[in-house]
Amino acid sequence: MITKPIAIEDVRVLLPGIPARTTRGFLGYCTISLLPFKKGWLLFDTGHYGDRYLLLEALENLKITPQDVTCVVLSHLHYDHCLNLTLFPRATFVLASRELQYAREVMAKQRIDYSIPDMLDSLLQNREIQAFDSELKLGSGIKVFETPGHTPGSVALQIKKTRDIVLCGDAIKNAWEFVLGEPDMVYGSPLAARKSIQRIRNMGEILVPGHDRPFRQKEREIEFIGGTSWSISADLYPREKGSEIFRLGYERRSGDPAESAEKDY
Ligand SMILES: [Zn+2]
Repeated sequence: MITKPIAIEDVRVLLPGIPARTTRGFLGYCTISLLPFKKGWLLFDTGHYGDRYLLLEALENLKITPQDVTCVVLSHLHYDHCLNLTLFPRATFVLASRELQYAREVMAKQRIDYSIPDMLDSLLQNREIQAFDSELKLGSGIKVFETPGHTPGSVALQIKKTRDIVLCGDAIKNAWEFVLGEPDMVYGSPLAARKSIQRIRNMGEILVPGHDRPFRQKEREIEFIGGTSWSISADLYPREKGSEIFRLGYERRSGDPAESAEKDY
């Protein structure tokens, strides 16, 4: 796993998400991104406990302490995006009112969503929370906006500078979802989820998906930005202890047809 962040203008993708699933379920490693914000830093999503070591290491490599993070945007309240919020004691947590409402309904057993943490109330206790409806401007050129579908209160963040960059959360989890326009793992409305994918397509030249590498959309092709390298190792007797099962490597070379995928609108 690389810990060198992928830089896209002001955005640092600290940990690119992993679009993998296993026979024991979705491998919930989400994308965690950072950008300068007022006198501190803004983190978009926090990952879960399995990410803690690498997340803190990635911040430390940039000489940023958890106390320097003054704003955390939670794309939604699934465990794989929100469990590390407790690492950031000085942050204001920005999320959609609708997502808080949804999580409360899940906790009251009015809806089923096993990815909402049972201990959410204690995670959010005594935190500064800024809940919004529809959209919210966070600073010059930065806004968060609702992208319902994956969950009813999912949000994405747009940065308008030289190019429009959208941090998608799970409204677009991976490049396939973008290419097909068909949402996967929908806990809210499938129709809303499709509209949210389309809205993001129209808003961002560069997209940072919730569980995949960032990419640029160019006409009918996508072009990944930065590299990634990760592997799964296992103690599978009689293989050597901790031996690697596979490794995904990626290098962007212009003109390489393997680096882009056809879009099918
Ligand atoms: Zn999710």
